[in-house]
Amino acid sequence: MKYHLHIFGCQMNEADAQRVGSELEKIGLTYTDHARDADVIVLDTCVVRQSAEDRAYSYIQTLKPIKAQRPAAVITVMGCMVGVKSNGALKKQFPWVDVFMPPSETAPLVNYLRQREAFALLEEETRHRHAIQDGELILPAHERGKLVAAHVPIVYGCSHACTFCIIPFRRGVERSRPVGQIAQEVRSLAEQGVKEVTLLGQIVDRYGKDFSDGPDLSDLLRVINGIDGIERIRFLTSHPNWMTDKLLDIVAELPKVCEHIEVPVQAGDDEVLRNMRRNYSADDYRRLIDRIRAKIPNTSIATDIIVGFPGETEAHFQHTYDLLEELRLDVAHLAKYSPRPNTVAERNMIDDVPEEEKERRWRVLNDQHERISAGINRRYQDQVVEVLVEDQHKGKWRGRTRTNKLVFFEDEMTDRRGQLVNVKIDKTGPWSMNGTIQSA
Ligand code: SAM
Repeated sequence: MKYHLHIFGCQMNEADAQRVGSELEKIGLTYTDHARDADVIVLDTCVVRQSAEDRAYSYIQTLKPIKAQRPAAVITVMGCMVGVKSNGALKKQFPWVDVFMPPSETAPLVNYLRQREAFALLEEETRHRHAIQDGELILPAHERGKLVAAHVPIVYGCSHACTFCIIPFRRGVERSRPVGQIAQEVRSLAEQGVKEVTLLGQIVDRYGKDFSDGPDLSDLLRVINGIDGIERIRFLTSHPNWMTDKLLDIVAELPKVCEHIEVPVQAGDDEVLRNMRRNYSADDYRRLIDRIRAKIPNTSIATDIIVGFPGETEAHFQHTYDLLEELRLDVAHLAKYSPRPNTVAERNMIDDVPEEEKERRWRVLNDQHERISAGINRRYQDQVVEVLVEDQHKGKWRGRTRTNKLVFFEDEMTDRRGQLVNVKIDKTGPWSMNGTIQSA
C-alpha cells in the first residue's frame, strides 16, 4: 500500500507532513511520488494568504476524479485550511475527502486507517519491525540516509495575534514541546544521517515562555549543540521583542549554531507597525539589528515585509523602503497584504491599497532587495566558505553556507551529500553563488 504527500506552505508544514509520512510507514505504507498510484493521499494546506488558499482549493478539486475512479483511496486534507476547530463545513464542501486533520497532528488519519481492515492487517504485519522505535521520529524511507537538513517544530501554534495573521486561529495557542522530546527527536534524526536541524516556531524565540520557570531557547540550543552527528543548528522565525542578549550571546558562543537570524520587521513605519500590533517601533528594530551585528559578527539577517497593509500611504511605504536601504539585510521575504477571515485587520480595517499599487510596491522592494543582496553576496567573491552539501541539482552539488547562502559547485567523482566541504566562490548573484571545491 502506498501514500502520497502534497505539501503547500511553510517549513512547519513540511515538518508536519514528514511526521505524517513517518507514522504511515510505521503501519506499513510506502511513499510514492504520484497521487494516482497512492492508496492514501495527504494534502497539507496553507491559508496564510488568499493565493495559497486558492492553490489548495484547486488541488482538492483534482482529487475528486481520483476518488470517483478509486473509491477505496483515502483522501486526507490537513493543515491550516482545516485548523484546530474544524466545523464540518469543509466536509460538506468536499464530500470526496475522507479525513480532515488539524495542523501538526497525525492521529486522526492513523486512527481512521486502523478502522479499515486492509490497513489493520498491514499494521499487524509491520508492527514488530518498529517495536524499538516508538517515540522516535523515523524518517520516511525515501528520506532516510538522504535528508541532510531537517526541520524540527519546537513551538506549536501562536498566541501573538498580529492583526493581519490567521495563523493563531488555525494553529491554536502557543505550546512549547519539552526539551527531552525535542532532543530525542534530533538524536534520532542524527542517527538517520541528518546533519543540520532548523528549530521551528511561529515565534521561535518565545520557546519555553509558556512553561512556568522553564527552559528558554538558549537552554534548548545548548542541549541540541551537544548532540553528536549534528553539525549545524538554525532557528526561525524570531519576533524582534523576544531576541534577548542571552539568546544572541548563545548564538555567538555555540559552535554549531549558525550565523543566520530570521527576524521579520513587516513594515518600517511606526503607524503601520502599531496597526499591525507588532509592539515595536522602527527604531527598536534598528537597535535590534545593531545588537545582532555587534554580538554575532558576519551574521546574515532575513526579514519579512508586508506591502499594502490597510492605510499604508506612499509616505509609510517610503519609510519601509528607507529602513531596508539603511539596514541592508541579506534576505527580504516580500508579501502583498491579503485580508484573512476573522483577523482584526479583516474585520476592522479597509483593504484600501489597490491591487496594482500593492504589486508596484512589491516590485520596488523586490528590485531594491535584488540590488542589496547582490552587493552583500559580492563580498564572498574569491573567498573560501564552508558548505554543507544537501543534494544535486541539474548536475551540480547544492549546499548552504553557515549564513544560509545557496552555493553550487561541480564534482563528478564523489557523492558529496551530507559532507562539509570548502568551496572557493567564483561567481556571485543575488540569489545564489557558484564555486570550486577546495578540499574533501
Ligand atoms: N510569525 C512570524 C511573524 O509574523 O513574525 C512569521 C511567520 S508568518 C506565518 C509568515 C509571514 O507571512 C509573515 O511574516 C508575514 O510577512 C506573512 N503574512 C502573514 N499574514 C499575511 C497576510 N494576511 N497577508 C500577507 N502576508 C502575510
